[in-house]
Amino acid sequence: MSRIAYVNGRYQPIGRATVSIEDRGLQFADGVYEMIKVVDGRPRDLERHLERLARSLHELGMAMPLTPAALRLIVARVLALNGLGAAAVYIQVDRGVAPRNHAFPKGAKPSLVVTARRPTWPKPAEIEHGVPVITLPDWRWARRDIKSIALLPNVLARQKALEAGCREAWLIDAAGLVTEATSANAWIVLNDGTIVTRPKGPEILGGITRAVVLELARENGIEVVERPFSLDEARRAPEAFITGTGSLVLPVTTIDGRKVGDGRPGPTTLRLHDLYLAHCGLPHRLRATA
Ligand code: PLP
Repeated sequence: MSRIAYVNGRYQPIGRATVSIEDRGLQFADGVYEMIKVVDGRPRDLERHLERLARSLHELGMAMPLTPAALRLIVARVLALNGLGAAAVYIQVDRGVAPRNHAFPKGAKPSLVVTARRPTWPKPAEIEHGVPVITLPDWRWARRDIKSIALLPNVLARQKALEAGCREAWLIDAAGLVTEATSANAWIVLNDGTIVTRPKGPEILGGITRAVVLELARENGIEVVERPFSLDEARRAPEAFITGTGSLVLPVTTIDGRKVGDGRPGPTTLRLHDLYLAHCGLPHRLRATA
């Protein structure tokens, strides 16, 4: 069955679904996106994703192209047309089609694209053993809180990580502090079990998974501190992990080839992993069948 995409009001086979060569997403990366996880036919934390989409658009001087209710219907239709109960849904909104000119075009209609594909959750072995990360300088722009489709520095860093045999790269700012990973937020656990992650601000994307994990931790008596941490501190931490729509809660067991703690996923990380799976309605099996 060929995949069906929603593009500007039409549902079409993905091979035939196109945008104009003068689309500002293509020419300027003048747009934003969301990636949403779907479990048992239900998009998870959709409200929060749509709120973040509205915020990202607002920062670009744009409004939501449709009401949240209309977007929900489109997401549901794309899922149904693709026969997907478990999925990763991609929503992209950009400033639309206009002759190439940096200035905002007058009267252009935003382009809206919605696609869905089978999700690729972390493999059970990655959760059992954790994943390696490398560190790289953070070369991105100064507004990482906007979920922009301009992802070239993330793409280049992820490729370097993969070539180094790593799942992710942790990005390090000029002060030696960890910002986040290329498509996930970065965390460490302290010796007393407190979890630490960088506060929301222009330096990082405010991850939806990050927000959920903070809430789950607080509800379950896990101490939380939102503050920057250095690469040095991460190297000395007993546990580290990343969070993201695609990564879930994923233990990080080596940084630049050096073991984190004893080199195995720690109890706090695995507890948060389990809590997060339960929140999403994902089977505990993801971990238990390793
Ligand atoms: N940080 C960056 C740079 C990302 O691209 C992402 C997700 O794509 C995240 C963090 C995690 O965000 P979320 O939990 O909303 O998927």
